[in-house]
Amino acid sequence: MTATATTALELREFHRFTAAGTEFLYLAPSAAIFALDECASAILARVGDGGGLEELGAHFPVAELEETLAELIRVRAIGVRGVPEEKVARQLPPENFPLTTMVLNVTNQCNLSCTYCYEYGEDKIVDTENGRKPKFMSAETARESVDFMLRESGENRVAHLTFFGGETLMNLPVLKSTIEYARQRAAEVGKEVDFSLTTNATLLRPDVIEFLAENRVGVTISIDGPKEVQDQFRVFHNGAGSYEIVAPKIAELLRRHRTRPIGARVTLTSHDLDVRKIFQHLTEEIGFREVGFAPVTSAPNRQYSIADEGFDRMLAQFRSLAEDFLAAALENRHHGFSNVKDTLEEIHKGVSKPYPCGAGLGLMGVSTDGDVALCHRFAGSDSHKLGTVRSGIDRLVQIGFLEKHHIDHKTDCSQCWARPLCAGGCYHEAHTHYGESAHPNLHYCEWIRGWTDTCLKIYGEIAVRNPGYLEQFDERTEHETSQVN
Ligand code: SF4
Ligand code: SF4
Repeated sequence: MTATATTALELREFHRFTAAGTEFLYLAPSAAIFALDECASAILARVGDGGGLEELGAHFPVAELEETLAELIRVRAIGVRGVPEEKVARQLPPENFPLTTMVLNVTNQCNLSCTYCYEYGEDKIVDTENGRKPKFMSAETARESVDFMLRESGENRVAHLTFFGGETLMNLPVLKSTIEYARQRAAEVGKEVDFSLTTNATLLRPDVIEFLAENRVGVTISIDGPKEVQDQFRVFHNGAGSYEIVAPKIAELLRRHRTRPIGARVTLTSHDLDVRKIFQHLTEEIGFREVGFAPVTSAPNRQYSIADEGFDRMLAQFRSLAEDFLAAALENRHHGFSNVKDTLEEIHKGVSKPYPCGAGLGLMGVSTDGDVALCHRFAGSDSHKLGTVRSGIDRLVQIGFLEKHHIDHKTDCSQCWARPLCAGGCYHEAHTHYGESAHPNLHYCEWIRGWTDTCLKIYGEIAVRNPGYLEQFDERTEHETSQVN
């Protein structure tokens, strides 16, 4: 090992973090996690300073130094100065990639009028007002959608069908007939369908709850927290808050629907970022098993949108709640903060995403007239249409979309260590913020990197102190981790 050889080396792309007294590297190109021992740490420090490794010979046997250096080069934590990493050619997913999840927008009508709603609020992109799209999906279009889903699901044995709105339960007859039809058609072709829906809970009558429980329909409730939080934005058309209406209905749902875990999905706004208070209310007082949070999607000038200082506050709150998650995980106790769990699973599986989510690929949204779009949030938008349930997916349009939205085209993200998990972020958020779905969501990079760092540390703590906890992620499927919102 010569001075020339080692000073010709340089550090490559990684994010360094410490957990449970151990130093780790998160290697951006491969999304692998590498635990550093003393020798590896010392080598990195020397290479980082631009110094030679000779003096390390006083602390470590030469064989160990050489072996560790070779390993650091192999995992691409260290490379030869002036010799760029070999670029892996960009690969698009195979044609006819199977459809895993179809989100059916059975209505674009809603009995609430949430100020921040992307479907009806100031940032809506879908034309639902001047009559181009039917307000309710017909039973026939829903049946055609099921046929489309089964056709497009390829070799997958299970197809996931999620009902969405507007307020989903405003089209209960179609929801019911579609479940029956999907079951029957799936059985005919040797498949199964997993059903779920998202609802604002206002229309959860006892007979509806009974139906959902009997049919094992997974339910996600859109709710923002205790009364004072919920009633700020989640209001009826006359401005009245919805908390008093939904709280008893949710209690009834949780009491009677035991066949699937019921989750809550919270939209955070700049008006209330007290994540811990909201979480405690929804889990301890209401009884949800899992709660997921997402910042509101809005143009930057809305008074409820979250900006820099708000992201800092939100991150501090997330971190504090993530500490509770960690304490529970170390004792193999359940904790319902699903944002942590979902990210831990991605870290554990070494996920490195060419795309931020499955939109336009394994996940598609269908509008009330049967148009197929990138996802439920774009359903009904002509400029994000991929085909129709009758004519199928226009493969040329889909390939064009996949080309344009690939992480390799997001030059702003090319040096970011968080890109394996972020990949530029939600297309709909980008469309709302920048008017272009392919734009990386640069307004929240600090938040994404801060949160990814937190989850990496939690992962490291668990990996060292209670590794058995992570085994559950070997089995969970991608679908189980996703929440449509
Ligand atoms: S959007 Fe920001 S955080 Fe996400 S990958 Fe790109 S640069 Fe990184
Ligand atoms: S992350 Fe955004 S683009 Fe992707 S499925 Fe969700 S809403 Fe659609």
